[in-house]
Amino acid sequence: MDTTMYKNLGVCDEVLRFCGGVLEELAPRFKKIDETAEYNQLKVISAMQKHRVNAACFAATTGYGYDDAGRDNLERVYASVFNTEAALVRPQITCGTHALAIALSANLRPGDTLLSPVGKPYDTLEEVIGIRESRCSLKEYGVNYKQVDLLPDGGFDYDGIKAAIDDTVKLVTIQRSKGYQTRPTLSVERIGELISFIKSVKPDIVCMVDNCYGEFVEKIEPSDLGADMIVGSLIKNPGGGLAPIGGYICGTKECVENCAYRLSAPGLGQEVGANLGIMPAFYQGLFMAPTVVSGALKGAVFAGLCYEKLGFKCVPNGTEERFDIIQAVELGSKERMIAFCRGIQAAAPVDSYVTPEPWPMPGYDSDVIMAAGAFVQGSSIELSADGPIKEPFAVYFQGGLTWYHAKLGIMMSLQKLYEQKLIQLTIDN
Ligand SMILES: *Cc1c(COP(=O)(O)O)cnc(C)c1O
Repeated sequence: MDTTMYKNLGVCDEVLRFCGGVLEELAPRFKKIDETAEYNQLKVISAMQKHRVNAACFAATTGYGYDDAGRDNLERVYASVFNTEAALVRPQITCGTHALAIALSANLRPGDTLLSPVGKPYDTLEEVIGIRESRCSLKEYGVNYKQVDLLPDGGFDYDGIKAAIDDTVKLVTIQRSKGYQTRPTLSVERIGELISFIKSVKPDIVCMVDNCYGEFVEKIEPSDLGADMIVGSLIKNPGGGLAPIGGYICGTKECVENCAYRLSAPGLGQEVGANLGIMPAFYQGLFMAPTVVSGALKGAVFAGLCYEKLGFKCVPNGTEERFDIIQAVELGSKERMIAFCRGIQAAAPVDSYVTPEPWPMPGYDSDVIMAAGAFVQGSSIELSADGPIKEPFAVYFQGGLTWYHAKLGIMMSLQKLYEQKLIQLTIDN
């Protein structure tokens, strides 16, 4: 390998040699990641061909956005890719939390119960649901919430779930990615098993999957195995790094129509919503997404194995199969977290000169450190790392629009730790 540019960027021989050894071991895993990307790339191309995507789809609309052919066709393309009857894919959906809030509030009514059979949902949903008191939460509108935790071994508590399903349970929310928890991420296959079980108890329950960070990691999606709605953010996987905003909801016609009425207004639904010229980024981002996700996955696998070899606990570990793009590394000290994040930042194409510092953040009970040098603000399909400065001093690492950038980021993180003598590199591991 020509290491000239790495050296120019500040990576020393010891780090290069250590990483070289790790990379050799990863060849078979990279091959599998590439195979999945290839399959999903063809899936996306096939959907675009089926719906005859052409230059007219990229035209901007303004105002009400009536008869926005590009927008309507993109929704057909998404529905094909995710194997659903319908889709809502809009820049008016501001983020993943918003998409999830729409999906929930559109499909639940006062007196209904929402059930999470996989433990506590993502932090921002606590306020949407009303688990934490919050204005305009579902709770304020009379929607009840029940939760069944995973068993200690990570399995589903089928008895508990069955007992929790009464006549009022109308919607079940299943989070695919572990988010910032320590539970394992759910494979699509396991989600499918859970959905089958739930439908066997009460067939008319709407099964929604929070699909954030999971899209294109596997060849199938939860909607292939019975999910009535899958929901996610376009500044994560399916936007391919090109979408500057947006969210999607794919699912049954009825669920998606409800979401459209909730997003715009009763009676208006999917008919309104100008695209303001964003269509090229949405189409091209979806086209790029399988490859971008594969780069992020390679970065996650590489980081996992590097840090595991250095003796740190990694979730998932260096050899486990992956079902999302997040890699957690328990670094065990504040100094190491800071050095790690500074390395990631130093590798960024944007804001590389910025020095991340731990800082108090709303909603957290400890300081938080973040590294991000993104083209799209807050985009976590771009290379980023963050974590609360508290036990077990874990950083959550994700993204990378290209594998080479992710690789550089991890090398720079190792470099910073090595320079400060916070890790030891032995060449024979
Ligand atoms: C990111 C994420 C969300 C929320 O998305 P935002 O775009 O940050 O609002 C919800 N659930 C999961 C699992 C996520 O990873």
